[in-house]
Amino acid sequence: PQPLLEVRGLKVHFPIKQGIVLDRTVGHVRAVDGVDLALTQGQTYGLVGESGCGKSTLGRAMLRLEKATEGQVIFDGTDLGTLRAEPLRRIRRRMQMVFQDLLGSLDPRQSVRSLLLEPLKTHGLSEADRAEFGADRPASHLAKAESMLELVGLPGSALAKYPYEFSGGQRQRIGIARAMILNPDLVIADEPVSALDVSVQAQVINLLERLQDLLGLSYVVVAHDLAVVRHISDVIGVMYLGKLVEEADSDDLYATPLHPYTIALMSAIPIPDPEVEDQRERILLRGDLPSPARPPAGCRFHTRCPYRQPERCDTEVPELRVIASHPGRRVACHYAEEILTGDVTVSDPTL
Ligand code: SF4
Ligand code: MG
Repeated sequence: PQPLLEVRGLKVHFPIKQGIVLDRTVGHVRAVDGVDLALTQGQTYGLVGESGCGKSTLGRAMLRLEKATEGQVIFDGTDLGTLRAEPLRRIRRRMQMVFQDLLGSLDPRQSVRSLLLEPLKTHGLSEADRAEFGADRPASHLAKAESMLELVGLPGSALAKYPYEFSGGQRQRIGIARAMILNPDLVIADEPVSALDVSVQAQVINLLERLQDLLGLSYVVVAHDLAVVRHISDVIGVMYLGKLVEEADSDDLYATPLHPYTIALMSAIPIPDPEVEDQRERILLRGDLPSPARPPAGCRFHTRCPYRQPERCDTEVPELRVIASHPGRRVACHYAEEILTGDVTVSDPTL
């Protein structure tokens, strides 16, 4: 089947401006620098990496909230880059976003009622909802808003309140209700639980999963934390400095991370069961993320990679490729096979 969402050769570069009136472009932040991926209907794609790796920009570019410098975003067969304002507005109702913090992303002076009704004012009820709640009228909009609140586990009385009157977890439920009120096909959730206590994180993730099953949604979940995306994601893409460095089924990625960067990210996750001895080789991520305005030559990870083989890694860009022993996955490392078999080992212990 045709994927619901396809990203082809996508680049999003932001000019760095200087001069008194910022009229000189002195370089570009290469936030997204050549990404290809596809998402099937009903699937969840987890996008992980450190902050600054470009994952949020990629998420926003998928909804065309950021313009592509190069490449395409194809949603349900339509290249979003070719759409004029009106058809783009119409297709946008099918693609919604959940943000990290509702208070930060929305006007805190708006009541829950007006937050929930706003998207309906712009787009109207979906066809299915018009069948259920009646034609687009204030009363049917309100009925839909109440049913959304119920769906996310909040009482109808929440409508009269303001976001600051709720806990972080409840606010996130309101943000989810707002994103889902138009019956979208695709929801991009950018760090949906990062601002929440660990105990509340699981509840919100469970809610997202329940809504997915109920409404047949597809998700892209952006997170810096691999533990958060593990259970909800079918496929995980690991990003580093604007590029995907590894992509695999969630379970496969956790069982056998192939890219040194993924291995490092995994090494940072505590092992849930203390009885189980961890057999993985642990490597630590040292140093800072280099500037995305000036990514290192060759393999972008080479300045931090403990497996680095300078002759090749510092000069030759590794392609995201399928390796024979693990079909169905993609990895961008010259030495993925050798690291797996132990033929290339940690070469620089000071890293
Ligand atoms: Fe490390 Fe080289 Fe692989 Fe890059 S290509 S991840 S530097 S071993
Ligand atoms: Mg799922």
